[in-house]
Amino acid sequence: KETQADEFLRQHMDPDTSKVTASYCNTMMKLRNVMGEPCKPVNTFIHEPLRDVQAICLKGDVPCKNTKSDCHQSSSKMRITDCRLKKGSIYPQCDYETQQKRKYIIVTCEGNPYVPVHFVGSV
Ligand code: UDP
Ligand code: UDP
Repeated sequence: KETQADEFLRQHMDPDTSKVTASYCNTMMKLRNVMGEPCKPVNTFIHEPLRDVQAICLKGDVPCKNTKSDCHQSSSKMRITDCRLKKGSIYPQCDYETQQKRKYIIVTCEGNPYVPVHFVGSV
C-alpha cells in the first residue's frame, strides 16, 4: 500500500527535470497518475533534491492557515512547476497550464522519520 510519504513523492517530487516545456504538466499529471476524477485543479512539482525537500520538515515551523498540524516552510526559494487546470477542461481531458516558479514552499510532515506528506502551497 502506498504510504502518505510515497504519495507525496509521486505527486510532488521531480528533482531530475532540468528543462520544463509547455507540455510538461499534461505529461506529468498523467504519468504520475495525479489527474483524478474530476481533474485535480492544482498540483505542484518540485525540482530540487529530495534531501533538500525532506530537510524542510526539520526546521522552518510556520503557522498553518487553518487548524492543520505543523506547517514547515523552506528557508530558500525552490524551483517548482505549478500545473493549473485550464478553464473548461473536463475529465478525462484534463488540460493543464504549465507555470515555472521560484518560491518558498510549505509542507506538512508526519511519521518517524518525519518526512513531507502534504503540499500546502507556495509563497
Ligand atoms: N496543491 C498543490 N500546489 C498548490 C496548492 C495546492 O499541489 O500550490 C494541491 C495539494 O496536493 C493539495 C491540494 O492541491 O493537497 C488541495 O489544496 P488545498 O488543500 O489548498 O485545497 P482546498 O481544500 O483549498 O481546495
Ligand atoms: N494530509 C495530511 N494533512 C492534511 C491534508 C492531507 O496529512 O492537512 C495527508 C492525506 O491524508 C494524504 C496525503 O496527506 O494521505 C496527501 O494529501 P493530498 O491527497 O491532499 O495531497 P498532497 O497534499 O500530498 O498534495
